[in-house]
Amino acid sequence: MISAIILAGGKGKRMGAKVSKQYIEVKGKPILYYTLEKFAACKDIDKIVLVLPKDEIEYCTKEILNKYSLKVDIIVEGGKERQDSVFNALNKLEDDEIVLIHDGARPFVSERIIKDGIKYAKLYGSAAPGVTPKDTIKIKDKNNFSISTPDRNELVAIQTPQVFKLDIIKKCHKKVKEDKLTVTDDTMVVENYNNKVYLFEGDYTNIKVTTPEDLILAEKLV
Ligand code: C5P
Repeated sequence: MISAIILAGGKGKRMGAKVSKQYIEVKGKPILYYTLEKFAACKDIDKIVLVLPKDEIEYCTKEILNKYSLKVDIIVEGGKERQDSVFNALNKLEDDEIVLIHDGARPFVSERIIKDGIKYAKLYGSAAPGVTPKDTIKIKDKNNFSISTPDRNELVAIQTPQVFKLDIIKKCHKKVKEDKLTVTDDTMVVENYNNKVYLFEGDYTNIKVTTPEDLILAEKLV
């Protein structure tokens, strides 16, 4: 079994909008619709787990799932931080071989990325898509002076879906909770316990819709 966890448990404060960012409409349909549709259309995915804030479950069921006839298998309440939301969702999975963890706010993921993620996770245990940053990246000090410039060819901007063997990611998420660590994505979770993550080619169009500028691009990409 292969499951996809779609994370829409955040409120998206950086967007500055009244509604949570996953419900902002692009060309007449909510962002989350496009994301769910990509996974629903992929034959390799057996089960979809959707994570939502508790107070949005009713709204989302009516306005997205029912309205657009999208089927999800399990709806899970989100947690305080992204990592808590992932933890809650992983606890609903038992016998699956592979799990994909994807940001609900990345509606332009391709079938090629989903399939590559599954292929490499089966081979290496953990895999994530990424792209070379377009800008030169600096390390800075607390006073905003640059310290160094890493070689751009050694840098990767990581995207989702991040794909894992279920037993590995479950075990590591449990340890992260026990060790009270803060992480910003799931590759960090497994890396912390010495697991290697295979990084494969993502796509510059697989953006996370985060700030208002991203919506302009999203309109074009749809
Ligand atoms: O905040 P950020 O953009 O990193 O969030 C990435 C994804 O994680 C978003 O799709 C968001 O809905 C989700 N998230 C979540 N639970 C939280 C915070 C964020 O599912 N508590």
